[in-house]
Amino acid sequence: MKLLFLGPPGAGKGTQAQKVAAAKGLTHISTGDMFRRHMAEGTPLGKRVKRIIALGGLVPDSLTVEMLTPRLDANGYILDGFPRTRPQALALDEAVGPEALDAAVVLEASEEVLVERMLARGRADDTEETVRNRLVTYEKETAPLIDFYQARGIVVRVPGEGEIATITRRILAAL
Ligand code: ADP
Repeated sequence: MKLLFLGPPGAGKGTQAQKVAAAKGLTHISTGDMFRRHMAEGTPLGKRVKRIIALGGLVPDSLTVEMLTPRLDANGYILDGFPRTRPQALALDEAVGPEALDAAVVLEASEEVLVERMLARGRADDTEETVRNRLVTYEKETAPLIDFYQARGIVVRVPGEGEIATITRRILAAL
């Protein structure tokens, strides 16, 4: 099974992707985690993306696609944080073909809950200004992908508020 987890920052994509990956025996691929590993290890890519991420922007598509595509596992995956732009979605189709995704799970939560969760999490890119910028970036660059995948009939909307285990059950039931 090939899944994409889509939704605004703070919606719980990473948490839920991990749980669903474990439940279904899929590889969880998180571009956010990959970038954070590069930054922690001080690799050339990590140094290049540090400032962009700290400001709440998006890493250039070419760098992201280059990092991500070799990780695509023919046996199935959960993509978390990729694609985040239309060019990335087209790159995914090109790399895997028309069967790149069976479902796009869209986690939804109110802006109030999103901001509260991110500020509570306290990651380096979770300061108030960065959080605001990430929400704006999401609306502009990533939210249009919901329509893109809706046109393929693979969008599954799941309410992302409530207990973690409840949300995991909702996703598994919807798939
Ligand atoms: P969240 O889901 O909370 O927004 P992530 O951990 O997925 O956070 O991503 C953290 C940051 O990494 C993003 O704000 C962005 O700067 C960068 N990033 C992650 N995935 C991508 C991507 N596909 N394209 C460009 N930048 C990305």
